[in-house]
Amino acid sequence: MRHAGTVRIGVVGAGLAGLSCAWTLHRQGHDVVVLEARDRVGGRTWSTTLPNGVVVERGGEWIDADQHTIRRFCAELGLPLAPHGVRFHRRRVGGEVPTLAGLERTLAAVGAHVPATDTTVAAAFEAALGGEYAGTPAFLRIATSTAGDPSAASARFHVARAEGARLDAAARVVGGNQRIALAMAEELGDRVRLGTPVRDIGVDGQRAVMTTQDEAFAVDRVVVAVPLALLDELAWDPGFPAEWRAGLEGLTTGVAVKLSVSTVGSVRPDGVQHASLPWWAWNSLDPAGDSGVPAVSCFAGGADARAALGVETGPGRWLDELARLRPDLDLVADDAVLTDWASEKWTRGGYSYVLAGRAAEAAALLQRPCGPLVLAGEHTAGAHSGTMEGALRSGVRAAQAVLDVR
Ligand SMILES: Cc1cc2nc3c(=O)[nH]c(=O)nc-3n(C[C@H](O)[C@H](O)[C@H](O)COP(=O)(O)OP(=O)(O)OC[C@H]3O[C@@H](n4cnc5c(N)ncnc54)[C@H](O)[C@@H]3O)c2cc1C
Repeated sequence: MRHAGTVRIGVVGAGLAGLSCAWTLHRQGHDVVVLEARDRVGGRTWSTTLPNGVVVERGGEWIDADQHTIRRFCAELGLPLAPHGVRFHRRRVGGEVPTLAGLERTLAAVGAHVPATDTTVAAAFEAALGGEYAGTPAFLRIATSTAGDPSAASARFHVARAEGARLDAAARVVGGNQRIALAMAEELGDRVRLGTPVRDIGVDGQRAVMTTQDEAFAVDRVVVAVPLALLDELAWDPGFPAEWRAGLEGLTTGVAVKLSVSTVGSVRPDGVQHASLPWWAWNSLDPAGDSGVPAVSCFAGGADARAALGVETGPGRWLDELARLRPDLDLVADDAVLTDWASEKWTRGGYSYVLAGRAAEAAALLQRPCGPLVLAGEHTAGAHSGTMEGALRSGVRAAQAVLDVR
């Protein structure tokens, strides 16, 4: 039975954005249904256990020290965090660990070459450092994490974000980051329907309808929390809202690939960036804090890195490169887990990045409800886009927005 004042809300997508939205509304007594295409929750948070028992992340992994929303969710859901013990921002390059002072000097110099009208990451680095910029640790780190094209990405946005280097103390959830999604889904129970891709989103007066292959769900509001790259694959009736279209022009989706593999024995935690390509590898601290885990994970960002590592043909070439980058590790190649998000049907890429010159109003446009429809997802999170923190923030914001719609 519906209580007076409750609103029935449909959520499309059970990643961190969709689930945090539904979970927040459910806790406030509203009636929610979450439709998820995959047969699991978590979307781009996806944890797996290697044959030797080490839990690794196939998607979102690093929880920065200053990401308070995700840390608060973990606390509320009773999920302990453990430090990575790896310098994310000051990963080794060619045997050297960059100093914090050196990084700050570089970022200040690059920042001084970003005009008010913005420029691209590559252009700002070149203007500040000259032709050799592509081999500097700061550029390699930003290019890797942006996971897109540095010749298109906004310097105003992505260089400023690198300021986080001051707080290099990232963590992860003990047992895997996907536990955040699993814990919310458990509370939501059968309100989350797996294996239920939404095909159409329609607006009918003040109400909305989500249609799957077999069913139509008429609800008061719909929160659409699918990845940016999939918004165009939905059929929108009467068409995709023009305001959102304008906001989406400021963003695009990058390419992100991960590889994890067990090692024989463990060595001290370390993070090493490849000296010319945007990928890196790390072996984290054991959650107990005693030693490194007997496993190594790698992240490659951007289409060029994905091609150079031969991802489409399997993990072989990347494993060879990894053995060269980390000769201190004894890899168990048969255990390799490769995750190519560009070929994942329900993701189609890595995460969003901001395009040069078009950052300013994108988030504000995407956060505006259009009739009974509200967008959520990391791509709507403005300064926090491209992260798990951003996905959760977007879900909380969308939960408020659907109730504010008149
Ligand atoms: C390789 C990789 C590494 C990353 N590393 C980090 C990191 O270290 N730290 C960090 O903070 N962030 C990281 N991120 C980013 C972070 O994982 C994402 O920003 C965040 O998880 C996105 O959450 P979301 O809910 O917006 O989207 P998603 O998690 O993608 O959720 C969207 C959901 O919608 C579902 N869906 C799609 N289409 C439909 C449909 N038609 N009907 C129903 N359901 C549908 C999908 O199956 C999915 O479950 C990484 C991402 C990747 C890919």
